[in-house]
Amino acid sequence: MTPQTILLILIALAIANYGFEIVLEILNLKESKKPLSQEAGAIYEPEKYKKSMEYQAVQTKFGFISGGFSFSISLLFLALGGFGWLNDLLLPYIADNSFRALAFFGILFIVSDIISIPFQWYGTFVIEEKFGFNKTTPKLFVLDKIKGYALGALLGGVLLYLLLLLLTTLGTQFWWVFWLVITAFMLFMNMFYTTLIMPLFNKLTPLEEGELRLAIEEYSKKVDFPLTNIFVIDGSKRSSKANAFFAGFGKKKKVVLYDTLIENHSIEELVAIFAHEVGHYKKKHIIGSLVSSILQTGAMLYIMSLFIFNKSLSIALGASELQLHLNLIAFTMLYAPISFITSIFSNVVSRKNEFEADRFAIETTNPNDLPKALKKLSVDNLSNLQPHPAYVFFHYSHPPLLKRLEAMKK
Ligand SMILES: [Zn+2]
Repeated sequence: MTPQTILLILIALAIANYGFEIVLEILNLKESKKPLSQEAGAIYEPEKYKKSMEYQAVQTKFGFISGGFSFSISLLFLALGGFGWLNDLLLPYIADNSFRALAFFGILFIVSDIISIPFQWYGTFVIEEKFGFNKTTPKLFVLDKIKGYALGALLGGVLLYLLLLLLTTLGTQFWWVFWLVITAFMLFMNMFYTTLIMPLFNKLTPLEEGELRLAIEEYSKKVDFPLTNIFVIDGSKRSSKANAFFAGFGKKKKVVLYDTLIENHSIEELVAIFAHEVGHYKKKHIIGSLVSSILQTGAMLYIMSLFIFNKSLSIALGASELQLHLNLIAFTMLYAPISFITSIFSNVVSRKNEFEADRFAIETTNPNDLPKALKKLSVDNLSNLQPHPAYVFFHYSHPPLLKRLEAMKK
């Protein structure tokens, strides 16, 4: 295939993907404007519901503007050979291929982030602020950025350097060695994310003694869940939106509750939410999704090994000879249709897992508590009660509230 054909394919893929997302967003926005069913109407107060619709509309429109802007810039950059140009620009200063690649990705990352800062700022300090969610201060926003850059440079830099090293020393055989490396990294992150990474951004404290802790301990005993760590995270530092999640496995497993969740829910509701998280553990969802992402990564790396040394990819991006970092970018774009399909698959599995965890929770607690908690959460977060089914199919990792309530009634 000629480089020109490859470039045309890359442009076509980018446009198709963007067009598809726009169609989904429009469908979703239209759907949310349809009158609510009686059941859904009982969940929201009319005033609050109006606010939630307004929130959906504002977010969607803002997404069109910010998404359209970054799409146009990326497309222009790609079509005009910007990637090759940036590499040529660095060439006289950094002769070493691997270090040039690190600088290349570093610059791309920082420049694209800086371009999007006005949008991130507007999203946080105007939109989220207007709907009463924002708790982030400008100082925290800047600190988060700096920490994020440092962490990205450290973790991304090390992994990228290893990948390039393996590519240059092992040739097409790099894929299975790097697969082992990345698997080890994923396992490590899964176990230590809440101990090493999260504390850089948030404070995690063990849930204090008291009524809630007692109720959770009692529940854990009842369902034979080896309770080691329940933590409270200060999510209120950034947003009033609430959440809870399960992290790690083996001895490192943790249930993390947002302080905003604890504030707004009764003990019974919190135990039901905790029970849902325990359900994920009991039904082996945590291990399942980890294994699935390890397998997906292996498949991707193998397919990458078939393309990564193809000189035409670099030339399509505007270089004059093979440059592995340009090929990495071209490959990521070519792989987009496959990752689109694997993400659909992951979302389907994830939504099925949510139903199972809900089922586990209502079978082991008072069956009214989880529905009550989920309704409250949806209203507080101004969730969309009527997303378009196609939007749900492609994007939702959790089933919409009404579907969950319906499933729990059975
Ligand atoms: Zn869940």
